[in-house]
Amino acid sequence: MNDAFYKHLLDEMYDGVYFVDRHRRILYWNRGAERLSGYSAGEVVGHFCHDDLLRHIDEYGRQLCKGACPLAATIRDGQPRQAEVIMHHKLGHRVPVLVRVAPIRDERGDIIGAVEVFSDNSQQKAALEEIERLRHMALLDPLTGVGNRRFIESVTYARLEELRRYGWPFGVILADIDHFKAVNDTFGHLVGDDVLTMVARTLAHNVRAFDAVGRWGGEEFAIVAQNVSAGMLRVLAERLRVLVEQSTLSVDTLSIHVTVSLGVAIARSDDTPFSLFDRADHMLYQSKQRGRNRVSLEESQYAVEGEEGKTPAALNGHAEVVLR
Ligand code: GH3
Ligand code: MG
Ligand code: MG
Repeated sequence: MNDAFYKHLLDEMYDGVYFVDRHRRILYWNRGAERLSGYSAGEVVGHFCHDDLLRHIDEYGRQLCKGACPLAATIRDGQPRQAEVIMHHKLGHRVPVLVRVAPIRDERGDIIGAVEVFSDNSQQKAALEEIERLRHMALLDPLTGVGNRRFIESVTYARLEELRRYGWPFGVILADIDHFKAVNDTFGHLVGDDVLTMVARTLAHNVRAFDAVGRWGGEEFAIVAQNVSAGMLRVLAERLRVLVEQSTLSVDTLSIHVTVSLGVAIARSDDTPFSLFDRADHMLYQSKQRGRNRVSLEESQYAVEGEEGKTPAALNGHAEVVLR
């Protein structure tokens, strides 16, 4: 493998990497170093690391370049070392970095320079990442990989706030897998889990980017769709119904299909997440009653859109518009 390969490899590293010769002249400065320090290779290569570039200090503000430089010490004694130092960023601020230094030797074993690898050591970054990770875990359904009920509820709170403040319309869909107990009973719980994941993925991949999908519980999923009319929400629900019906899990020689029943509700400004999902659940129940694998939404919501004329007369006074 040639030098270009190694240079490419080092450039791809997330950490900062640089080489210095015995006089601490910088010979190489990778992209990670550019990113962490703000200085491009062109600005740094050829300079001495004790020039006023990086101005490493310790936590007491002591200048390390003049006297306590880990690179200088390693070049002197050949010992690798590690240090927590605070680097100067080109934009002026200070960045804590963890520095690891190792000597570079020629074929005869003589020290000809040193390599320093440095990485962002800021507590804030680590803490923020940890918070983000915990937040992610707390709102994620571990089995299916979509959001959990808490996630859906918190999104719904936010959307209700927007509806009240700015009048932005939104709605929710509840989807319950039909006869799911039979899937478990026939194929076992593990296959049941795979079916849940399949349905969750079909839903998650087929809503719009700004709609939220979560597992509401057991074999029920919820979708919070932003900026939709009742008509649009009905179309989305119908699309999801068809796509779940067309999803197939292959187990050995078997192809397993399931269907979902869906209930749709458009939010009102006096709703709570509870009242909104209660209405969607009522519509879901209607879909089950009417034979499953179908979408139901309230007639009153249809009427709001001026679509009364399209309401099937056959409903005979039922409060639901049933689409299949
Ligand atoms: P319906 O069409 O009326 O919705 O019938 P159903 O069989 O889907 O409904 P029911 O509520 O009787 O059964 C739901 C089943 O879902 C029972 C429960 O064991 C199963 N279930 C709930 N959570 C999980 C899970 O995490 N994994 C698996 N494999 N099954 C689950
Ligand atoms: Mg259920
Ligand atoms: Mg069910």
